[in-house]
Amino acid sequence: VIMTSSRTFQPILERIAEEIERTPGRGRPADYIPALAARDPRAFGMAVAELDGTVYGVGDWREPFSAQSVTKVFTLALDLAREGDELWEHVGREPSGNPFNSLVQLEYENGIPRNPFINAGALVVTDRLQTRTGDAAGELLRFLRAESGNPDLDFDQEVAASETAHGDRNAALAHFMAAYGNIDNPVPVLLDQYFRQCSIAASCADLALATAFLARHGIRADGTRLLSRSQAKQVNAIMLTCGTYDAAGDFAYRVGLPGKSGVGGGIVAVVPGRCALCVWSPGLDERGNSVAGVAALDRFTTLTGLSVF
Ligand code: GLN
Repeated sequence: VIMTSSRTFQPILERIAEEIERTPGRGRPADYIPALAARDPRAFGMAVAELDGTVYGVGDWREPFSAQSVTKVFTLALDLAREGDELWEHVGREPSGNPFNSLVQLEYENGIPRNPFINAGALVVTDRLQTRTGDAAGELLRFLRAESGNPDLDFDQEVAASETAHGDRNAALAHFMAAYGNIDNPVPVLLDQYFRQCSIAASCADLALATAFLARHGIRADGTRLLSRSQAKQVNAIMLTCGTYDAAGDFAYRVGLPGKSGVGGGIVAVVPGRCALCVWSPGLDERGNSVAGVAALDRFTTLTGLSVF
């Protein structure tokens, strides 16, 4: 079924939700903090936001969940908008082929992380945004509230506190990069910003709307420009090649869209010039990507023919 009109998004979402409902095997929720481990692995929601802000949704699409690494797309865009290409002196643009929280490449590459979407790279981006704004997490929250039109979006203090209590690995990444001079702010300041960033609770509807600026080639919901057309293309490219970590090749093969996952079970994806999507289901595969989320996006691009390929 190749879709020709956006009126048909709703039936396609409902068909996908039914298929997902019948599919056994959902993976396991992230268990490194209790707040994530407690989510029902059978929860499932999916939303599509069109360029004009029209949203379609199915299942638990209005239920807030922990955005986690999905936020790395937005901090990247917010920092790129401010500093432009100077950022690329501090973080690379190559897929890592390693897990999202891996330390191994940092020593060989002088404290320069492979890309902005693994934790090391995201820490660098948040550090630079913090230097430029004095309030990286607040800047992100304001952006998400404005794009989603949801003033109630907020940090989840319990998740942020849990991240801090279990933050040794991220602290190690930050300290290691600081030793190479690639972190500006004191590590505790950076970690506080990063953990609050990860803790933001948002729904599929919120995150699909917040991602739509990438489908609009850099234009925000209010019509102002955040990124140049070329920068929006670059962010989409990095999502395609790095957005799902060491599963990015498989994600491109199955879904064929720029996408960014988080361990809360959310994935956002972009159909440039057409729409943005967000899918959520807390059960993860061993690489930290939502099992039902990837399956639903796979079905979406198959059923609609909407893919960058
Ligand atoms: N808070 C998580 C971490 O830093 C985010 C990781 C993720 O969503 N992939 O480990």
